[in-house]
Amino acid sequence: MLHLSPLKPDFKERLAIEQATHAGFYKCWSCGACDGGCPVNINSHSLRPQKIVRLAYIGLLDELLYLPEIWYCLTCRRCSLVCPNLVKPADIIGYVRREMLHQGLVTLDAIHQYQQFFARFQRVRWHAVSCCLNGTLPTLTDTQWDQWMNTPIRVSSTVIKKNGIPVPRSLREAVGKAHPSLCFTCSECSSACPVFCERDLFDPQAIIRMVNLGLVEELLASPSIWLCLQCERCTNTCSQLVKGHQVIKGLQNLAISKGVVDSSLEFRIRQADKLIYPRFFKEIDTIFNLPPRENNHFRLHKAVPISAYEHSAAESLPPMHA
Ligand code: SF4
Ligand code: SF4
Ligand code: SF4
Ligand code: SF4
Repeated sequence: MLHLSPLKPDFKERLAIEQATHAGFYKCWSCGACDGGCPVNINSHSLRPQKIVRLAYIGLLDELLYLPEIWYCLTCRRCSLVCPNLVKPADIIGYVRREMLHQGLVTLDAIHQYQQFFARFQRVRWHAVSCCLNGTLPTLTDTQWDQWMNTPIRVSSTVIKKNGIPVPRSLREAVGKAHPSLCFTCSECSSACPVFCERDLFDPQAIIRMVNLGLVEELLASPSIWLCLQCERCTNTCSQLVKGHQVIKGLQNLAISKGVVDSSLEFRIRQADKLIYPRFFKEIDTIFNLPPRENNHFRLHKAVPISAYEHSAAESLPPMHA
């Protein structure tokens, strides 16, 4: 039989987290939309933004500081985007990361290593999609992982000689309402994009530019358009009101409707993600040398719903707005 550990809810800590983040976690009504919108959770069930919100609500900073999944987050902010109550789980994650550094639980060197690893992980995603375009990814061997991590993506480029290449009608229709023609190539969307690390691999600005140049064949056959997380950060940052996420969604739809890719491609990519994400987590655990899962206080009781902790804690916590 499982027993609840004597977790001590901490009102001061809860207030400190809220004051630092303005994440509004006290408005969470546990609908689970953030869990359903998180690309990491969808592919692995290993990162639940709702759980992080709940732990923050109870003020359990100690628990949060030792959660390995804090570093599994892609910082895409989809959880915040889909929350009907405007809670910002991603901001809590950012706060916990800073606290881990502040309290010496992770080092700057480890964070630097993590950033480099994160960029190279996008290469793995690109290569995996490339495999899925031509079939499936049945297994992921160590050799394959190492090779993909260390192989930069080089897209062969051709010089565009003609001025004013007409944008094909199908492409115009697919991305029309996203207004790509308003783009003035400022790169803000790329700076905000969590996937953008190497230009040839994935760059929303370059994709929008290619749309405006009418380079339809190159775009529809590219693995890059399938790396987008649909987090809308590009759209929210664009001063020209170009909807980058809709441009890319339109390209994906066009690739399917034109038969450039088959309609089960997305399913195959999800299956491939199930192979690459566990490896992603393993490497992150190694970089940060986080405590083994068995020693993690909260994970010992992962079968216990977070609501049980909340209810056991509720009486000792004053309301957030008091
Ligand atoms: S944070 Fe928002 S989306 Fe997530 S469970 Fe709470 S109310 Fe739902
Ligand atoms: S920021 Fe993205 S990856 Fe991180 S918890 Fe939210 S949805 Fe998941
Ligand atoms: S932020 Fe907008 S204007 Fe700037 S490059 Fe991106 S799409 Fe173009
Ligand atoms: S291109 Fe836009 S929607 Fe896609 S991952 Fe980047 S920021 Fe998110």
